[in-house]
Amino acid sequence: MNNIPNEGKVDFSKPILWIVIPCYNEKDVLPITAPMFLEQIQTMISKEKISAKSRILFVNDGSKDSTWDIICKLAQEDEHYIGISQSRNRGHQNAVLAGLMEAKDVCDITISIDCDGQDDITAMERMVDEYLAGAEVVYGVRSKRDTDTFFKRFTAESFYKLLDKMGVETVYNHADYRLISTRVLQEFAGFHEVNIFLRGMIPLVGYKNATVYYERHERIAGESHYPLSKMLALAFDGITSLSVRPISIITGAGCVVSLIGFVGIIWAIITAILGNAVPGWASIVCIVCFLGGIQLLSLGVIGEYIGKIYLESKHRPRYIISDKTWEPYERHYKG
Ligand code: UDP
Ligand code: MG
Repeated sequence: MNNIPNEGKVDFSKPILWIVIPCYNEKDVLPITAPMFLEQIQTMISKEKISAKSRILFVNDGSKDSTWDIICKLAQEDEHYIGISQSRNRGHQNAVLAGLMEAKDVCDITISIDCDGQDDITAMERMVDEYLAGAEVVYGVRSKRDTDTFFKRFTAESFYKLLDKMGVETVYNHADYRLISTRVLQEFAGFHEVNIFLRGMIPLVGYKNATVYYERHERIAGESHYPLSKMLALAFDGITSLSVRPISIITGAGCVVSLIGFVGIIWAIITAILGNAVPGWASIVCIVCFLGGIQLLSLGVIGEYIGKIYLESKHRPRYIISDKTWEPYERHYKG
């Protein structure tokens, strides 16, 4: 069939871009990075790569400092700045999701990026180029992490390797800096899980993708909100939300341990028959402890999955937006 009418459809040559930026307690960072985002969007508009209707969407993730006030002020200064605010802090992943879902019906492409200037803002233009060349998802990948500490690099490296071993498909050294077309976002809206791990979920949607490399910089100001404990929690969530391999490993370990136990029993019987059985309370205690440990670990992992099922079964909302800069909730201001 040819001659398919295209009236009212997306203008692929000049897409409307929404940059989605999660912000949590970033009062020191926003005044520095917001103009950088604006400059980047204006460059792309002037080069006619994106529509002048493109926007920079800040998602305030229940900050306890003046982040939301700064966002509201920015929105008054320039029409390209807009913001939404979550009713409380729900974490980086949910903040990005809230922004993406807000954007999915009103723009053609989104780019999610952290607000601290660590991810190279100028790489956005290359991402848009990839989209214009046909990619629906463009992953921003860190080409080197010189600015990160050895410890951060080591833990991140182990994290990607572990995810891979556990069967979770991710793009190596890609965090949450990525371009997604709204076509992909509409499909992604059908993924309803409460425990979200975007970098493992987006590849599951499929479609043509591309990669853009960039150098990771240091945080412009403020401090990371991802200490080791939160990184471990994210890794654990990523694995248990997207893979059941740990349970298979437990089953395998259970088989191996049972086999060792079985061989031990045969050996004990033979030595008893031969009459040279040694009083072996030490070996028994060791085996009991070993088995007890494995059992507790296994129960813990299985418990994690059951906990996840419990949380998923509640179908609670993944984010709650309390304010938008373009339609503020009046009651808050009337007191
Ligand atoms: N962030 C968020 N909610 C949180 C923690 C962080 O929205 O609960 C935002 C934060 O403002 C930043 C991004 O997520 O824009 C990444 O956080 P951060 O820079 O602290 O992490 P790191 O880069 O150190 O891994
Ligand atoms: Mg950061």
